[in-house]
Amino acid sequence: MSRLQLPRFSFGVGDRFAHQAAPQLRACQRAAAAGVNIAPVWNKSNREHAIIGSAPSETRAAADAAVAALGWKQPYFLDADHINLTTVERYLAPCDFFTIDVAETIGKPANPAAARELAERHPELSREQRLPGLERPLPLSRERVLAIANQYLAAIEQAGQIYRHIEARKGRGRFITEISMDETDAPQTPAELLVILAAVADAGVPLATIAPKFSGRFNKGVDYVGDPEQFRREFHDDLVVIAYAVGQYGLPEDLKLSVHSGSDKFSLYPILNGALRETGAGLHLKTAGTTWLEELIGLAESGGAGLELAKEIYARAYQEREHLCAPYASVIAIDHARLPLPAVVERWTPAEYTAALRHVPGAAAYNPHLRQLLHVGYKIAAQMGERYRRQLADNAAVIARNVEANLFERHLRPIFFYA
Ligand SMILES: [Zn+2]
Repeated sequence: MSRLQLPRFSFGVGDRFAHQAAPQLRACQRAAAAGVNIAPVWNKSNREHAIIGSAPSETRAAADAAVAALGWKQPYFLDADHINLTTVERYLAPCDFFTIDVAETIGKPANPAAARELAERHPELSREQRLPGLERPLPLSRERVLAIANQYLAAIEQAGQIYRHIEARKGRGRFITEISMDETDAPQTPAELLVILAAVADAGVPLATIAPKFSGRFNKGVDYVGDPEQFRREFHDDLVVIAYAVGQYGLPEDLKLSVHSGSDKFSLYPILNGALRETGAGLHLKTAGTTWLEELIGLAESGGAGLELAKEIYARAYQEREHLCAPYASVIAIDHARLPLPAVVERWTPAEYTAALRHVPGAAAYNPHLRQLLHVGYKIAAQMGERYRRQLADNAAVIARNVEANLFERHLRPIFFYA
């Protein structure tokens, strides 16, 4: 049986309340109609499921229903996002894409004998590597390889263990395997990535995508904070390293980078687009459930009861901001002094609410602090339960228009379309 493969371009979308799979898919259909095939991957992390009280099987049902309703004949996937051995169980049946998160094990010292064996299996890594396409050689030495092994080998061995656990249950070649190292403190350099890929190949993991941590901050729902030039170099060098490692270590030919973007890294999109066009490389780009913010925008835009509910959600999120932000502390940057008081928001018109929330870089009314707070505020809507769902249903058309347009115009087109 042939191995399940991720197409060259794939895009991870979140759908926290499992109501927007159809408009999300329509954005991909619009891209396909324009000749750009992008596979949608519905991703939802264990953290989100836990906060909402939902189950991966519901995400599967919503995706399948949208695919059937819209007659989508191309590949699509369901991502068990950031799972490990303790959380993977309920994802095994509904998911066919597994993001194995080993960030917690990064930095746990490796078995010294295993680190030495890695260096001995790969004498080529014990000297500077001059790869075609790299401006500078990768600064590798036997000492560096041992140090990198000490930092990452335990995590890679753990990834192998999780991979084999999934394989035993799902069957070889029946799912996409990603390893994520993004939720850690230090970015991985291209030299580290090369050693990591050699070790992953040795561990027998048929890797489809790898998500390194890049320099700069990837806060949820807002633009990149960092040096775009540095990102450009890192991304480019990582693409070179991946292409080389595929040939050198026998990793799957379609191995590609996965960027856990946290959504809306608009200033990086032209860089990604340029690199894909120049190299012909593939890309998986994961977003972070900002579709939920499009639901709020749609509710506010609808006015009436929809707007009232959107205001109430903000007021409660404001009251509970400490507690809502805590699980996301490392991936948000909210200046609480710049959050409007609920009494002010209470008087807003639909246009004022949507202008504050909608991510239009440079727009005077756009408030990234409010946007980030609402981004992590989905727990409030989850607690409203039926009241929230009722408003989603009552204002479905306006919301769908926002979800589809946001995804297509502000993400898919700038990243994947060549001008
Ligand atoms: Zn991630």
